Amino acid sequence: MKQVSIIVPAPVELVALAAELMTTTPCVEIVVFGAYMDHMDGCIGTYCPELKTVYIDMGNALNDQALYNAGMMFIPNVWYALVWALAHEVEHACQLEAEPELVEFSKLPQEYEDTAMQAGADLVLDWSEHHNVPTLGALGWLGEQLIVMINAMYTKHPEVADEVTHVPFGAAASLEAVFANHEFTNRGKEVLIEEIDAGNIGLKIGNDRFLTAFEFLGL
Ligand SMILES: [Zn+2]
Repeated sequence: MKQVSIIVPAPVELVALAAELMTTTPCVEIVVFGAYMDHMDGCIGTYCPELKTVYIDMGNALNDQALYNAGMMFIPNVWYALVWALAHEVEHACQLEAEPELVEFSKLPQEYEDTAMQAGADLVLDWSEHHNVPTLGALGWLGEQLIVMINAMYTKHPEVADEVTHVPFGAAASLEAVFANHEFTNRGKEVLIEEIDAGNIGLKIGNDRFLTAFEFLGL
């Protein structure tokens, strides 16, 4: 019997995604959502083959900044870190299903990590094509924590606070941050601006232009 175990209230959309992913392999029976769980050692996701259980730690996700450092905004960065971790750990379960002898490894060979990383990246891109990051209100406990963090970040990173008040739903990266973090020719920048202004891609509010997560991740 598959089950999702919720220790700390998880966003409905994340629970739905977990429920969907766990149908892909008999090697995941339980997905546990918690926060700052002792055995996680700072990781967002882990997989326990003996218990056929994936653990997802929303507390640790709040401290992940991989996509943020690449120019994504803070909230989508946390959200996609969770989606990525789910796909990554379920991929490890699929690996075990295909090669049961992997259970002997305390640390998997790098090629298995590479495949799991790719599974994470693929799902993040795939999911972002058809969904927007849930609103803070729809993120429940995670949303409450994000508000606390964003308030605390205000002096050093005022643009993070703007994310809550000035950013259109569905935006994941400001064009400024995109230009700061990726190589573009002047013509390339012009094209992006023109395409956003024409309403073909991205989102615009006043003079502020944004890319969606799918567009940003595809850069
Ligand atoms: Zn891994």
